[in-house]
Amino acid sequence: MAKRDYYEVLDVPKGAVKEEIKKAYRKLAIKYHPDKTQGDKSSEEKFKEATEAYEVLSDEKKRQAYDQFGFAGVEGMGGGAAHDFSSVFKDFEDVFGDFGGIFDSFFGGGTSRKRASRTSVSRGADLRYNLDISFKDAVFGTKVEINYTRNVSCSHCGGSGTESGSGRKICPSCAGSGQVRRSSGFFSIASPCPTCNGEGYVIENPCKLCGGNGLAKKKQTIKVSIPAGIESGKRINIPGQGDAGANGGPNGDLYVYIGVKPHRYFERDGNDIYCVIPISVTQAALGSEIKVSTLDEKQVKVKIPMATQNGKVLRLRSEGIPYLHNSSRRGDMYIKLIVVIPAKLSSRAKDLLRELAEIQGENGSPKPVPLSEL
Ligand SMILES: [Zn+2]
Ligand SMILES: [Zn+2]
Repeated sequence: MAKRDYYEVLDVPKGAVKEEIKKAYRKLAIKYHPDKTQGDKSSEEKFKEATEAYEVLSDEKKRQAYDQFGFAGVEGMGGGAAHDFSSVFKDFEDVFGDFGGIFDSFFGGGTSRKRASRTSVSRGADLRYNLDISFKDAVFGTKVEINYTRNVSCSHCGGSGTESGSGRKICPSCAGSGQVRRSSGFFSIASPCPTCNGEGYVIENPCKLCGGNGLAKKKQTIKVSIPAGIESGKRINIPGQGDAGANGGPNGDLYVYIGVKPHRYFERDGNDIYCVIPISVTQAALGSEIKVSTLDEKQVKVKIPMATQNGKVLRLRSEGIPYLHNSSRRGDMYIKLIVVIPAKLSSRAKDLLRELAEIQGENGSPKPVPLSEL
């Protein structure tokens, strides 16, 4: 069958402006779209013919070549029989954009979803990495190398999913609508086309390496800076290090979730830290000076006042955890003193304690302490 002139197909004059061409195509596309004509062969042919004509005449460069050289001028530019419809798909929205009501009923109501999938450019997935760090690294910050696998653009096809020289073509099963219809009694039910998964196009010659999805797995190592003062459950966002997007869409992000391992001696509460230090009965009674190890592993002198009771809490200023993003400022360190009763006593020590009891005149019938005073 001889090909009809593109202007004739769209029924527009040679000098037609873009708007006229668009209008003419819209009319034909609605009339002959396979979704509406339920698989009528001649309508399908007319739809394809009109789409092809529109693709050439709506493109300034292709139209010029066609005007000058006829069909030969647009061959290999997307004007042939096995041409690439992807640019037309982008135009669908343009063509039907102001056509709300009819467009909806025409495509079975699912237009916004399908229109979104036509362009198919989407952002890649965000990835989560769980990183456990030591208490000290959380306090003072560190740099950690992490290894993980993410999707990147396939190196063989550059993310297009096609072997070089081939492109996308309109899906033969649904003729680009992304939907197939089946009859159920009086109703005609639309469902996503199984051939193209509702995309409306198929890849003519899928990439041998990635099978057509345009993605490849890649192992990578990156260095993550952990700021001083970070807490368990906080996350660090590394932009662009998630999965690659489909069809040139932007990368997702990598989220590194921090888990802090507990410290043997210190417990954290916000930017303050707590620890428990044992002292002897005599240190508590007479007062003393002891050395305590801080987070920085400094030995700090701490004065224990005379008559210190069991459970007393002392504070060391600015020996706590640095504030996140302001590490010159730090929380405090709290020391809870517990008085340890000696478990092993020599006979000499026992004698001294008995003597002490005598001198102090110990009360054989102590009264309970009011709970409110504890
Ligand atoms: Zn590939
Ligand atoms: Zn299909």
